[in-house]
Amino acid sequence: MQLARALPILDVAPGLSKRPFLSIAVPTPIEPMPGFEGRVFVKRDDLVSPLYGGNKVRRWEWLLGEALDRGARTLLTVGGTGSTQVTSLSAHGRAAGLAVTAILFDQPDTEFVREALALDERFGAKLIRGGGYASTAYAALKAYRSAEKPYFIAPGASGPVANLAYVDAMLEVGRQVDAGELPRPDRIVTACGSGGTTVGLAIGAAMLGYETEVVGVRITDLIASNPITLRAFAMSTLRVLRAAGYPAGKLYPKLRMDHRFIGQGYGFSTPEAEAGARVYRDAFGVAGEVTYSGKALAALAAIAREHPQETILYWNTLSSTGRQI
Ligand SMILES: *Cc1c(COP(=O)(O)O)cnc(C)c1O
Repeated sequence: MQLARALPILDVAPGLSKRPFLSIAVPTPIEPMPGFEGRVFVKRDDLVSPLYGGNKVRRWEWLLGEALDRGARTLLTVGGTGSTQVTSLSAHGRAAGLAVTAILFDQPDTEFVREALALDERFGAKLIRGGGYASTAYAALKAYRSAEKPYFIAPGASGPVANLAYVDAMLEVGRQVDAGELPRPDRIVTACGSGGTTVGLAIGAAMLGYETEVVGVRITDLIASNPITLRAFAMSTLRVLRAAGYPAGKLYPKLRMDHRFIGQGYGFSTPEAEAGARVYRDAFGVAGEVTYSGKALAALAAIAREHPQETILYWNTLSSTGRQI
């Protein structure tokens, strides 16, 4: 594999170098977040790829690597009509030479949703509208049966191997701390869907010996993501790391879910999320959205108020690249 960057995780779990990997991400900068007097920083994972950035790219390196290694021809996934996972997979899957089919369930219609659908098509994905959750699951099964050499990626794209991406990303932050770019963060705030990001960052922070607590801001239903699914993820991810040579011994990832900002549910706006979307636009120069980053930024504002002495790192999960259509 040709690495676009040196992966810090290979230093601590060298066995991972045997896994297939598609190098498409670049290290991302950390900057002071405007409006917080210099003690809140932002990890610019929106810039993790010039093609389409944001939260899924680091995972694709492991998942698309595996798909290519298995000789897959079609990437199949399921997401909401405004799913950034679907847009990101459309961009990076097609760039890797694979067909992409996405089965979409309905979510509240917003400008961001319409923009996402246009981008999915622009990137060359085949889109199938599934309607509600049950009919979408049925349509996905049908599409899987008729697809050529399919590789399936579940909503959230998390799993013990995909989660390694965020363990590695946290070790990348460790290097930035060592280089004096920011103090050790007391707390990290990020949007929490399936929880892979939250869990990976918390494991990475524990590996670094930090006391940092990772706060996952819940943006989806409790049935899909809750403290128990997060614990299970942490354990299965640690098992992969140990199998790859990470020295056994106790690690206590510190993580917490914040349930206060979900409103009516996945994709439904709240006044706080609208305000968060405006913060996004002002900070990053592109329109924000209310499903993930709007709610996470609403939580960031509250948490920064509640902990006025702390250094806080906001983990930006929404792409700011690839969106000018
Ligand atoms: C997928 C995604 C998340 C959530 O990440 P999880 O690891 O599933 O919790 C957050 N923000 C954006 C923009 C995403 O695409």
